[in-house]
Amino acid sequence: MRLGKINPVFSIRFNSLPANPESLLKSSVMGHHLWSPWRMKYIENHEKKAGCVFCTALEQEDGPDNLIVFRGEHAFVILNRFPYTTGHLLVVPHAHHPSLGPLEAAVRAEMMELVNHTTQVLEKAYQPDGFNIGVNIGAAAGAGVADHVHIHVVPRWVGDANFMSTLAETRVLPELLEDTYQRMVAAW
Ligand SMILES: [Zn+2]
Repeated sequence: MRLGKINPVFSIRFNSLPANPESLLKSSVMGHHLWSPWRMKYIENHEKKAGCVFCTALEQEDGPDNLIVFRGEHAFVILNRFPYTTGHLLVVPHAHHPSLGPLEAAVRAEMMELVNHTTQVLEKAYQPDGFNIGVNIGAAAGAGVADHVHIHVVPRWVGDANFMSTLAETRVLPELLEDTYQRMVAAW
């Protein structure tokens, strides 16, 4: 087969694999933190019973337990308890609405400024190679907390846990959540 006929999506995926996936897997699992799918399911079910995780976090004192890094006038920044990568943060309005539409324009504006500041803080603390920034509106779109809209800010590194998510449905975290929390608060 000629090179030009290779499916471009497939070749991009192939190129994103680390040069030596086995050694990366071994070092990540042995020394650090591995979230497994069964545990995520357990935690998600548990949290559904407890009500809105964001409204609950707002009522608590800020620290490694509620994971709120910064409170603004209309919105706040919180670490994702189930991160895709280290430093996965969420920008959340104080108001409990399922989508961006019902929010005041000033709230949406502040959220965008917080997204911008979050990327700057992550750049300083972790030197990522890129970011995924996005909103899942509605359970059909993959929103984990569909009733309270939030913007994901996910730092990415060349050769990060992509292959683990795709092939093994697990997330490899090279840092404990509490350590990430302390670093983000210090860098904010
Ligand atoms: Zn809420």
